Amino acid sequence: MPQRRHPVRYTLWLARTGAAPKAFSLPAWVPAVVLLVLLGWSGLNLWLWHRTAEMRSLQLELVRLSEQARKLNNQLAAERTRNNALSQDARQILKQLELLEREINTLRERAGMPKIKLRPTRNEEGGRGGAAVPAGLEDVLRYAAQQAEELGAQLGEVSPALQETLRREAAVPYGYPLRGFNRISSHFGYRRNPFGWGFEFHNGVDFSAPYGSPVQATGAGVVVEAGWKGPFGLAVVVDHGYGYRTLYGHLSALLVRPGQRVERGDLLGRVGSTGRSTGPHLHYTVFRQGVEVNPSRYLD
Ligand SMILES: [Zn+2]
Repeated sequence: MPQRRHPVRYTLWLARTGAAPKAFSLPAWVPAVVLLVLLGWSGLNLWLWHRTAEMRSLQLELVRLSEQARKLNNQLAAERTRNNALSQDARQILKQLELLEREINTLRERAGMPKIKLRPTRNEEGGRGGAAVPAGLEDVLRYAAQQAEELGAQLGEVSPALQETLRREAAVPYGYPLRGFNRISSHFGYRRNPFGWGFEFHNGVDFSAPYGSPVQATGAGVVVEAGWKGPFGLAVVVDHGYGYRTLYGHLSALLVRPGQRVERGDLLGRVGSTGRSTGPHLHYTVFRQGVEVNPSRYLD
């Protein structure tokens, strides 16, 4: 006969001072359940505590990260501002280079050098709907540096030619030989002989002006003659180079000597009526390669 197992039971005594103790008979599983519940409860608490700590550290991390993000954002904004300023500088530089290029071309033109084709600017290059490639600031600055170098070389090339042009412009007769007396009393070419019958060739122009009016050189050069010159009376001849000479005749006084260097506007003598003349006036002749040409072309 199999031995019958009695279920294990526990008795819980609850004693109270001054009272009869109370006995509770409990099945064996009750303490186990209570123990389990206690264990579970403390486990949960532990877990919760752990989670809370984790949450706190996460929260701290989050605060730290957002702070960092804010800083980065500020830095980015500052960088953007700096970049914008740099871009503006770069744009300014490009614009100035373009102006310089145009100026050099103008100088080349003045110096009688062939014009160079201006490179299209970046804006024109791109155009609307064109294949514009967005350029970084570094590219722009590199391009600007190259441009500047090239323009410098061009300037070095144009400078001597321009100086020569300016020298030539200073030398070639231009303007009036008298100040304030620009009325021509006798033109260049054939005219009626003022001294007799028939016609004669007048190889210059005459300006009527009061006796003693200052006569000035119409271009830079060297005085080659200053003295009596036949029908021209007291006369000055200036050699300007480049095939040009000018003659100033009928003077009353000479203010230069042969071999003297003069600039445009320098005084050569004074208006008179010496030589073949009927009254005070200046006779002015322009020679080009030894041939008299119409001075009217060199007055204005
Ligand atoms: Zn004359």
